[in-house]
Amino acid sequence: MKKNLFYLISAVVLTACNSSSETENITSDDPSSTIVERRSCPSEEIRAELLKNDPAARQRYANVEVGVQNVLDGKVLADGTVDIPVVVNVLYRTSAENLSDSRIAEQIAILNADFAGTNTDASKIPAEFSGIKAGDTKVRFHLVKTVRKSTAKTKWGTNDAMKKASSGGIDATSPSSYFNLWVVGNMGGILGYATFPESAGLWNDGVVIAAPYFGKTGATSPYNLGRTATHEVGHYLNLRHIWGDATCGNDLVSDTPTQTGANYGKPTYPKYNTCSGTSRSIMFMNYMDYVDDAAMFMFSAGQKSRTQSVLTSTGARSGLRVY
Ligand SMILES: [Zn+2]
Repeated sequence: MKKNLFYLISAVVLTACNSSSETENITSDDPSSTIVERRSCPSEEIRAELLKNDPAARQRYANVEVGVQNVLDGKVLADGTVDIPVVVNVLYRTSAENLSDSRIAEQIAILNADFAGTNTDASKIPAEFSGIKAGDTKVRFHLVKTVRKSTAKTKWGTNDAMKKASSGGIDATSPSSYFNLWVVGNMGGILGYATFPESAGLWNDGVVIAAPYFGKTGATSPYNLGRTATHEVGHYLNLRHIWGDATCGNDLVSDTPTQTGANYGKPTYPKYNTCSGTSRSIMFMNYMDYVDDAAMFMFSAGQKSRTQSVLTSTGARSGLRVY
């Protein structure tokens, strides 16, 4: 689509300049030819005529300028960083569940730090893994709007009821263009869950987090550093659990050591697992493990590549680039 627009506009401008080549001749060997004293190019005048008479061209022109503005506004930064627009949908029964704007801003800031690799606890990454840490994944997040709705529901499940107004939830806002995040009061023992990129743009696409584990201030220990969202957004951007959801499973990332299963709490480094007869130190401090918020503080370079691939202009989540 973008390419076609570019071609169309280029064609208009090039045609204009070619057709005006005579008027652009500043010097001439033939004294009888018309001498142009000042350079003149009628491209804009020709374009104005085109836009005046052709509604479709006007629409194409507007689309081009919207695309330019999106880049200038920083949605896709010059270095390729994708700044994802976020819609937070809050379903609350109690005032505590009706999370404040500052708590929401806090969670967005945590996502930005964790995905930029600027989280303060990144200094704890063991030297063994510092060479393969993701650093800046070139993914950022910014809040576009918060939608709030009061509910009498005391407990939510993983059946996506919170994502539909007809089942007591809040309908997603343009899920192919916006990352929708739902906050609900209680999901029993579940901290949160996410859809993967194969669900891009569907009505239920996005991440759900239980209010006690969202943000930092007032959140419930030991899941009170906003890392539930970091983990779930990892899934949303195509990352699997680091143990591959199987004994010595495959997370489709080559630089994360194979591990026997999930880790919990605050493990002590180094921790060794044996898979296929080989014992090795595992990366339990990865956001895609199950450790406490304070014990997870890194993505790997391989995970960065996977997240970036779904956000390219041809990736499953390319819709998040332009809005
Ligand atoms: Zn998970």
